[in-house]
Amino acid sequence: KLYNEVQDLKGNIRVYCRIRPFLPGQSRKQTTIEYIGENGELVIANPSKQGSRRLFKFNKVFSPAATQEEVFLDTQPLIRSVLDGYNVCIFAYGQTGSGKTYTMSGPSLSSTMDWGVNYRALNDLFQISEARRSSISYEVGVQMVEIYNEQVRDLLSSASTQKRLGIWNTAQPNGLAVPDASMHPVKSTSDVLQLMNIGLTNRAVGATALNERSSRSHSVLTVHVRGMDLKTDTVLRGCLHLVDLAGSERVDRSEATGDRLREAQHINKSLSALGDVIFALAQKNAHVPYRNSKLTQVLQSSLGGQAKTLMLVQLNPDVESYGETISTLKFAERVS
Ligand code: ADP
Ligand code: MG
Repeated sequence: KLYNEVQDLKGNIRVYCRIRPFLPGQSRKQTTIEYIGENGELVIANPSKQGSRRLFKFNKVFSPAATQEEVFLDTQPLIRSVLDGYNVCIFAYGQTGSGKTYTMSGPSLSSTMDWGVNYRALNDLFQISEARRSSISYEVGVQMVEIYNEQVRDLLSSASTQKRLGIWNTAQPNGLAVPDASMHPVKSTSDVLQLMNIGLTNRAVGATALNERSSRSHSVLTVHVRGMDLKTDTVLRGCLHLVDLAGSERVDRSEATGDRLREAQHINKSLSALGDVIFALAQKNAHVPYRNSKLTQVLQSSLGGQAKTLMLVQLNPDVESYGETISTLKFAERVS
């Protein structure tokens, strides 16, 4: 089959694709990316079969030249709806090295040009709440947790880094799925930067010597917004989940053993549970299987119902990644 459509807006789920550029050290610059269309078309060529190609369709495709700002501009309306009381979930999916962390957090925090969706989102929320100050009083709080081997860990509290956290079993209207994760009120972007640094440090502290742990755990930054309308005295609540998922690459079962195999199985399970939930929502199924993983339980309030979901599908450009690229695209195809 030549044409595979990752189709247009279906309900509240949208899917964008971002292709990372070749990195300075990469010598062979052969790519599988054959064509990027203006309207979300993407053609991938099979490097081992001349003339064999597949078309995928997204709501939008960002080329390797796209800047952090361009990516943010297309997510901004979604993020702003949090201030109007919507729950929003944005997550980055792809193999390790495809640019998930680059898109969500950025390569560094020192230059605002580098900032990823996380910082730009919070920065934007602060600016708008400031502009609306005379009519609505907003309070913003953040939580940050890591899900590793189906265990939830607080990344913003050093005291409880080793403690496993419980999860509410049903979607909470306030989006508070992990009540025991520390909640931090934030008033400015510098508050946020400070917290992110703590979160990143705590993530590194838990890392095992073998591999970089961040590629094998999901990190979830949750932004809770409470807006009080000063004229009518009514309260609006919205919540934004910003998720940097574990790497989606298949692990060779013949090679992985012990801890590595267990990790791989947990990642596999949680990513397919996420796929199943979004698939059920896109199909408008009556039953949505949130309970199958910690990840989908944590995200439940911002998946389904009135919530808006954006999946950022990250791709490597090189021919060596062809197999993983196709498997990433198949995941995206199924959930949209
Ligand atoms: P992941 O989180 O998916 O494992 P990273 O975000 O760590 O991947 O990206 C892998 C490498 O590629 C990093 O060195 C990162 O800085 C670089 N990179 C990713 N996306 C881009 C981009 N759009 N522009 C420039 N460099 C990028
Ligand atoms: Mg990463």
